[in-house]
Amino acid sequence: MIGLISATAAGAAARDRLAAAWPERTRVYDGPVGDAVRRAFAECEQLVCFLATGAVVRLVAPLLGDKADDPGVVCVDEGGRYAVSLLGGHGGGANELAREVGALLAAEPVVTTATDAVGIPGLDTLGLPYEGDVAGVTRALLDGEPVALESEVVWPLPPLPFAAGGDRRVRVTDRAGEPAAGEVWLRPPTLVVGVGASKGVPVEEVLGLISRVCEDAGLSPRSIAELATVDAKAEEHGIVEAAARLGVPVVTYPAGELAAVEVPNPSDAPLAAVGTPSVAEAAALAGGGELLVPKRRSERADGLPAMATCAVVRRPGRGRLAVVGLGPGARDLLTERAKAELRRASVLVGLDQYVDQIRDLLRPGTRILESGLGAEEERARTAVAEAREGQAVALIGSGDAGVYAMASPALAEASDDIDVVGVPGVTAALAAGAILGAPLGHDHVSISLSDLHTPWEVIERRVRAAAEADIVVTFYNPRSRGRDWQLPKALGILAEHRAPGTPVGVVRNASRADESSRLTTLGELDPAWVDMMTVVTVGNTATRNIAGRMVTPRGYRWQESELSRQAAPSEEGAR
Ligand code: SAH
Repeated sequence: MIGLISATAAGAAARDRLAAAWPERTRVYDGPVGDAVRRAFAECEQLVCFLATGAVVRLVAPLLGDKADDPGVVCVDEGGRYAVSLLGGHGGGANELAREVGALLAAEPVVTTATDAVGIPGLDTLGLPYEGDVAGVTRALLDGEPVALESEVVWPLPPLPFAAGGDRRVRVTDRAGEPAAGEVWLRPPTLVVGVGASKGVPVEEVLGLISRVCEDAGLSPRSIAELATVDAKAEEHGIVEAAARLGVPVVTYPAGELAAVEVPNPSDAPLAAVGTPSVAEAAALAGGGELLVPKRRSERADGLPAMATCAVVRRPGRGRLAVVGLGPGARDLLTERAKAELRRASVLVGLDQYVDQIRDLLRPGTRILESGLGAEEERARTAVAEAREGQAVALIGSGDAGVYAMASPALAEASDDIDVVGVPGVTAALAAGAILGAPLGHDHVSISLSDLHTPWEVIERRVRAAAEADIVVTFYNPRSRGRDWQLPKALGILAEHRAPGTPVGVVRNASRADESSRLTTLGELDPAWVDMMTVVTVGNTATRNIAGRMVTPRGYRWQESELSRQAAPSEEGAR
C-alpha cells in the first residue's frame, strides 16, 4: 500500500489525482501531518508526501529502522514539479515510484542513488536474491575499484564493470554458505525440487524435508526456481503452500510423461497411486538438468509413515536473447520495454546505423557487436552464440525486429537451450500509415520488393494475389539504385485491378529528422520519389483522399448511404 500525505490545498489536489489513478494501491492519511506520516510509515510499504523534503526528513528521522525494511519515501513539491526519491531508492522501490508518480503528475523524477545516476545497475536490482555487502560492493563498482565476478553457474547478468584483482567479489552461486567481507552472493534460480506426497501431507513436512535436503547437499534454498510434481498433485495443499512460502511456482507434469523419465530410484507405490514409478526424481528431471540429490523421504517425529519425498536437480544455466524492435526512428516511438531490454543486455548485436540510434541508452560496459549492411546471417549467428554462452543479448532491428528483419534468421538458428524474449516495435507500414491518415483501415498486406533473397516470380505472384483480392498493399524495400524496375512492375499489376485515381502514399524516413511524405495516385506516382528509406502504400478500390488524408473505409458497407446505416444501427460496432 502507498500512503499519501499532504498539508496544503495544492498538495491535496495532487494527492487526489494519485488516489484516483491508483485506488487499489493508495490510502490517504488525513489529520495532522506528523501523525499522518507516523501512521503511514508504520502501515505502508511506500509513502508519497506532498511536503518539502526538509519537513519529511525531520518527520521520518526518528522512525528510521533498517534499510531492508523501511518504506520507500517519495516527496512531491508544492508546485508539483518534482517527484523526489528520498528514502529506500532500491529496497523500498522509491526510485521506481518517483518515476511512476512523475509520469502521472507530469513531474520530473529526481533520483540521486548513485547506481541509477551513472547507469550501473545496483546489485540489489538484478532480480536475484542476494546476500552480503551489497552497498559496499556496489560502491566499489561505482568508484571503479576492482570487483571480480565468480560465476559457478551461468546466468545472464546485465553489464557490470567487473575486473580481477582486489579483494571484493560477486559470486553467482546456488551453494550454501555465508559471503565473506567484501563479497556479494547472488542466488540464481537454478534448482528444481521434485516433490512427491501422499494426500493430506502437512506443509511443514514438505518444507522441513526441502530445507534438510538442501542443507545436507550444501545448496541454498534461495536458489530454488520451482517445485515440480505430477499433475495429480497440482492441488495438494502441502505442496502448493510450501511453494507459496518459498515464493516459487509449482510446475506439474502428466504421469505418462514422468513414467518415461529415466530415474535412479523407481518404486511401486507411486506407480499404483498416480501411474508413474517416480514422482520426485522424474518431475525434477523432466525439464532437464543434473540430479544433485536423489529421492529422499521425510522423517516424522511421531514415527508415522513419511508423507513426502523430494529430489533436487540443477538446471543448466540459460542465456537470454531479446529480439528488440526499435521503432521507425523517433525516440518517443521506442517502447519502454525496448529501453528496458537494451539496458538489461550485456551484449548488443545489430546493424551499425541502428546501434547509433540507441547508443546513449546503453549501460556502460555493454559489449557492442555492430556490423554493416548485408551481414544478417552472421549477426543472427553471433547473437545466438553469445546467448548460448550465457550472456544477456539484445539483437536489435528498426521498426519491428520480426518484420523483414533479424528475428527469423536468429530464431531459425536458436535451439531451446536459451530464453528468447521478443519486444514488438512500430513497423514502417504503421508509422507511414499514421502519417498518411488511415490507409490500413481494412485488410492490408506488406510485400517486400527485394528480390535478393526471394525470386521475383514469387513476389509477383503475391502482388497479383493482393491485386485480385483488392487488399491495401504496403511495399517495403521498394526501390534501390540497383533495383529500379520492380516497383513500376508491381504498380502495373495493381493498376490492372485498380483505377488510376487510387490513392498512393509515399513516406520517406517516417518519424526521422528528414521525414517527408506525399499523397499521390496510382496513375501519377513517379518512381523517382522512392528509395530504400521509403515505403509505398497503395489503397484498395474503396480508399479515398479525404481532405489530403488517405482513408480506407473499415468495410464496404460502412460507406453505404445514411439510409442503410439507419436500417441497421446495431451493426455499427461489429464492422
Ligand atoms: N524491420 C523494419 C523493416 C526492414 S526492411 C520495419 O519493421 O519497419 C527495410 C525497409 O523498411 C526499407 O527499405 C523501407 O522500405 C522500410 N522502412 C524502414 N523504416 C522506415 C522509415 N522510418 N520510413 C520509411 N520506410 C521505412
